[in-house]
Amino acid sequence: MDGNALKEPSFRESVDLMFNRAVSLMELPPGLEDKIRVCNSTYTVRFGVKLRGEIKTFTGYRSVHSEHMEPVKGGIRYALAVNQDEVEALAALMTYKCALVETPFGGSKGGLCIDPREWDEDELERITRRFAYELAKRDLIDPAQNVPAPDMGTGEREMAWMADQYARMNTTDINARACVTGKPPHAGGIQGRVEATGRGVQYALQEFFRHPEDVAKAALTGSLEGKRVIVQGLGNVGYHAAKFLSEEDGCKVIGIIERDGALVDEAGLDVEKVSQWIRSHGGVKGYSTHYGEDGGAVLEHECDILIPAALEGVINLGNADRIKAPLIIEAANGPVTAGADEILRNKGVVIIPDMYANAGGVTVSYFEWVKNLSHIRFGRMQRRQEESRHQLVVDELERLSKDSGIGWTLSPGFKEKYLRGAGELELVRSGLDDTMRGAYQAMREVWHERDDVSDLRTAAYIVAIDRVAASYKAKGL
Ligand code: NAD
Repeated sequence: MDGNALKEPSFRESVDLMFNRAVSLMELPPGLEDKIRVCNSTYTVRFGVKLRGEIKTFTGYRSVHSEHMEPVKGGIRYALAVNQDEVEALAALMTYKCALVETPFGGSKGGLCIDPREWDEDELERITRRFAYELAKRDLIDPAQNVPAPDMGTGEREMAWMADQYARMNTTDINARACVTGKPPHAGGIQGRVEATGRGVQYALQEFFRHPEDVAKAALTGSLEGKRVIVQGLGNVGYHAAKFLSEEDGCKVIGIIERDGALVDEAGLDVEKVSQWIRSHGGVKGYSTHYGEDGGAVLEHECDILIPAALEGVINLGNADRIKAPLIIEAANGPVTAGADEILRNKGVVIIPDMYANAGGVTVSYFEWVKNLSHIRFGRMQRRQEESRHQLVVDELERLSKDSGIGWTLSPGFKEKYLRGAGELELVRSGLDDTMRGAYQAMREVWHERDDVSDLRTAAYIVAIDRVAASYKAKGL
């Protein structure tokens, strides 16, 4: 560890420093600042599961940062490095994130110290069910109070086990399915949740590039087309973001960094192929001659857009001054430490902050929760009615064309596209796009209109803290 690394604050301290920076520019009633900043509670659980002939003890956490709105919401992470500081930092970010994208939740987060790759599926199910039991017993999984979701190391499978565990313990709760989000569609999930966070990263960048003045602040020009992208972590979030940006927006993914090294190819990497390779080989090593062992060095490569999508603290005091990307979008939570943030700001790098950039997950989780509580799929009532109204218009246009003798014909593919009523996936994507555009506008207004705000992160914090403060004030606190 070098001298600089020693001065690095912890993840939670980093989040607090960024929070403090924003509140120093706000006028909050005395004491409210502290009330918002502190984490309300953290529950630590140690439980044993009999596995491989012996009792294995696991440690897990569930932190509730703010209950200004309930239920509280936030993912559950499975990783060996999980600790209380990290879970509390992530819970705080959830509070601000939910406020920024206007999902009606307080912030929470959970974690289990485990390397999921060390256990087979049956073992993981037993461990997950036991963890869920411990949390549900204390209302830390509950549709009205605390609703977990996937995070690093967990996905649809774990959420389905947790939901089932809760349902077994609450057999008459008609809303049991709303106790966690990120479930598979056949177990009460919603279309588009798996892709949601990566999709949100794409929508965030699309919105950013709709504003030439903002693009210019990052010393870039034009649209997303042809932009050179490096992504760290090709898991759920990184894979979807890289896939959509390359397949739909014309970006070129020139670098992919994983645990075991990195791939760099100026001609552009095939995200789908690399992802399949990782799934079958456990890393990027051996994929092609473009492989190199030093993933850290690739973070410092020249590119237009850097997408850290793995874990926190990867851009820190030790490497911030060597980062060359002019635009960083924080797909992961907390990838840039408070110290690095300052260095990058001073260099003129534009950072699209985590609380906005990766809010697609919680936004679609909100839609899933609403779907579970309303017990009906989005679009089920309107879809065919919408189609028949569109059919009326098309029939009328065709009649007019024929009767007038003009002989107009509709463009190829128009009829098919126009006639199709929106299904659940289209509605989810539309709601997510709208949310990402709206939240960007709110941040941007503060960024552009206030002389004392020079970065998007501070702007995001100001918008979020203002909303949380308003909610506390309305409660009379
Ligand atoms: P994931 O487990 O699906 O993927 C993480 C990826 O990062 C994996 O491919 C892993 O191999 C890679 N990785 C791990 N350590 C690495 C390292 N040192 N260097 C390079 N790559 C490394 O996790 P995820 O769900 O995609 O989450 C990633 C980040 O996004 C986390 O910070 C998480 O909190 C955040 N996030 C996730 C969601 C979600 O919906 N899943 C929502 C919001 C934020």
